[in-house]
Amino acid sequence: MPSETYYSITDIAIVTGPNVNLATKPDWLATLPRNVVQTLREAAGGPLLLVCEHAARFIPEGLGNLGLEAAEARSHIAWDPGAMRVATHLSALQNSTLISQKISRLVYDCNRPPTSPQAIRDESEIYHIPGNANLGEADRAARATHVYQPFRQALADHLDHHAPRALVTIHSFTPVYNGESRAVEIGILHDSDSRMADAMLKAASQNPAYKVGRNDPYGPEDGVTHTLTEHALPRGLLNVMIEIRNDLIATPEAQQAVAAWLSEIITSALKTFPVEAKCPE
Ligand SMILES: [Zn+2]
Repeated sequence: MPSETYYSITDIAIVTGPNVNLATKPDWLATLPRNVVQTLREAAGGPLLLVCEHAARFIPEGLGNLGLEAAEARSHIAWDPGAMRVATHLSALQNSTLISQKISRLVYDCNRPPTSPQAIRDESEIYHIPGNANLGEADRAARATHVYQPFRQALADHLDHHAPRALVTIHSFTPVYNGESRAVEIGILHDSDSRMADAMLKAASQNPAYKVGRNDPYGPEDGVTHTLTEHALPRGLLNVMIEIRNDLIATPEAQQAVAAWLSEIITSALKTFPVEAKCPE
């Protein structure tokens, strides 16, 4: 996709409606990388499209760490630590394409639609994010246009031109959230289409290396299944979201071990579907 498209005024208008002042481009855009999407193994031809929405903690310099302390801006509120490493191993093991976002979810959370207030949060767990507070409509629209839309388009373009058997998104979660410890180690999440999750949970029960839960520690009621509902459900594509507790993937060895286990579970699950598995609808 040509990068000029990212700066098109019609894109902003689509997101915001007609009454937004588009006369000035926010200064931070000058510090945004030209391409915010990374694609690995684009033509690999394996069975999956892997997606990592929260791969990176990069905040463009022009946003000044969004007013956070440096340590806060590096913490799990900015990204999913370890998730991209696991996804990269899985991409190799499954010879499958991996599309990831290079910008922190604090700038725009690519697992949320532009209509969601949580796409650009001014509170995350115990942190206040000053640079996201009281954002005007034009500023929100610019974030969506320049961070979310190219990512959404990359996934759509890939799925329009390739035929993976399943869409698999890879995330990590923090072991202690709001002071509460989480026992689940790997969450298998789904929205209304649970086929892939069901098959993976069955395979995991026969290969119980980790404490696995369904729609745990999050579920669709938390609004975390946007990528699945936006891209997989309308296409009848098998889909699942994986959440890995981040203390399990803190070292290169552990990242490899979790990826190897997930790869086995995914392969077992895919074997239970006919090669052309589509939704009945
Ligand atoms: Zn995530």
